[in-house]
Amino acid sequence: TAFSTLNLHADLLKNLTSLGYESMTPIQALSLPHILAGEDVIAQGKTGSGKTAAFGLGLLEKLNVKRFRVQSLVLCPTRELADQVAKEIRKLARTIHNIKVLTLCGGMPFGPQIGSLEHGAHIIVGTPGRIEEHVRKGTLNLDDLEILILDEADRMLEMGFQDSLDEIIDAAPQRRQTLLFSATYPPQIKSVADRIMHKPVMAKV
Ligand code: AMP
Repeated sequence: TAFSTLNLHADLLKNLTSLGYESMTPIQALSLPHILAGEDVIAQGKTGSGKTAAFGLGLLEKLNVKRFRVQSLVLCPTRELADQVAKEIRKLARTIHNIKVLTLCGGMPFGPQIGSLEHGAHIIVGTPGRIEEHVRKGTLNLDDLEILILDEADRMLEMGFQDSLDEIIDAAPQRRQTLLFSATYPPQIKSVADRIMHKPVMAKV
């Protein structure tokens, strides 16, 4: 299916063409219509499936660049994945001027991250432990968050990030869109989804 069948902003669509993204991957075709409709979505897809563009286009389409507040948060299990996700979002967003995508990961010094947060950001991509620390310290405010994305949710739980996830979710507005991507769908993921999502649509390739 072509991206042009979706109601994407013209500049986003043009950028996809220039990136050589012609048709949607299966996970994009299944999840994007629901994501763009503002629904909560649980999507099963691994790295290489095009999942990053699926949620990336969803958050960029909803973003208001004039409101310089954190509007989307993407949680990833590792710094490597967070860097990869931020890179893909920046690529998809290259026609949107003044957009600020910030990565916040553990193992990196705190000081510069606090400085970056003081300067502001629209989209944050990071690992749960460090994001939780910023929320606790009050250096990251999630009051204006509209979309929360859990990427590779199964790996985050395997790595013991459950408590950090709970803390972060407690600090996010109740009224938000939540997207959960996971390669597998074990009972722990289902129970997380039951707690944090509102009538999720299942998108399984
Ligand atoms: P991901 O599964 O998100 O790691 O994406 C895998 C790779 O596929 C990335 O390099 C993307 O840039 C690329 N990609 C994502 N969606 C499309 C698409 N619809 N057409 C072509 N390439 C894509």
